[in-house]
Amino acid sequence: MKTIPFADFTPLHDEIKQEIFQEFEAIYNKGWFINGSKVEEFENNFAKYCNAKYCVGCGNGLEALELILRGYDIKEKDEVIVCAHTFIASALAISKVGAVPIFVEPTIDTYLMNAKQIEEKITEKTKAIIAVHLYGQTCDMDVINEIGKKYNLKVIEDAAQAHGALYKGRKVGSLGNASAFSFYPGKNLGALGDAGAVVTNEKELALKVREIANYGSTEKYHHIIKGTNSRLDEIQASFLNVKLKYLDKTNAYRKDVATRYRNGINNPNIIMPFVENYNEPVWHLFVIRTPKRDLLQSYLKEKGIQTVIHYPIPIHKQKAYDEYNTLCFPIAEEIANTCLSLPMYYGLKEEEIDFVIEALNQYKG
Ligand SMILES: *Cc1c(COP(=O)(O)O)cnc(C)c1O
Repeated sequence: MKTIPFADFTPLHDEIKQEIFQEFEAIYNKGWFINGSKVEEFENNFAKYCNAKYCVGCGNGLEALELILRGYDIKEKDEVIVCAHTFIASALAISKVGAVPIFVEPTIDTYLMNAKQIEEKITEKTKAIIAVHLYGQTCDMDVINEIGKKYNLKVIEDAAQAHGALYKGRKVGSLGNASAFSFYPGKNLGALGDAGAVVTNEKELALKVREIANYGSTEKYHHIIKGTNSRLDEIQASFLNVKLKYLDKTNAYRKDVATRYRNGINNPNIIMPFVENYNEPVWHLFVIRTPKRDLLQSYLKEKGIQTVIHYPIPIHKQKAYDEYNTLCFPIAEEIANTCLSLPMYYGLKEEEIDFVIEALNQYKG
């Protein structure tokens, strides 16, 4: 039986193999691996791509979020508002700086933070809102920025799943005060290892983040604050420079897959993802919902179609957050219990997409 994987790097990686190997060979021969011209080049390229002034490369997406929070001096006893339905990193970054994550519900149709529920969560301790552009679709940033302005809160984008997504025609990464990107291999723009970046229009924050990420130093062996080490290295930056050139193409491909799914799947037992008309998602994931989700997943598996659940346990129900376990976020719980991510990647073939659509339409769950 033929299987359709959930994700596959090969179609893109076959195309760019020559370029990637050339980059590797050049760096290998040059022998300069940290803080060099490749990182600088990528930072310039990616800032430009996001229509933002500054980009600071760092170790990964979690650290990008953490660096922004530290850059804004958010710390113990401060509160940061974030959606209850997201990857755990969005909340962990808040916990890592000693602050307290305050959850708001997602909306059931877009899976994104319900901006209408933010204001009721604001207290004297609230310092920031993290807007997670989950699955490749952006949050309602005009509303969130308005609240940020009214209460003097920083608006931080968690853009780890949304490289290139548009909100009212504007690029992710320059929609709030600062944004965090992950270049984990499976993201829309992925390195061949761990990598991340902070993107912002604020010069002061960019300098601060660079200082914190560089052992609290702007001048070698002079340490102003107790910083950390979070670096994007030359090899990953050079790979990212290559892959960035293909990002619009691979995102367009994902959009095409999503359009086919959205036009083709018409089973009343399957709830399709809702897209706000002002949004242009980049479909990091294509997430449907269905009441008997586990049944659907095993039905698809029998047909050779791989699916994944993003995410099966809401953060407030995780053991790591046991102090939150008695809290109740019914919408987040409902999504966790019913969501299923379909195969989605650059190079997924037309007949494979049709096979997935047909399997879903035949499902009698
Ligand atoms: C992947 C991801 C992160 C963390 O990125 P890493 O590079 O894995 O540290 C943060 N937030 C979201 C929404 C993510 O999907």
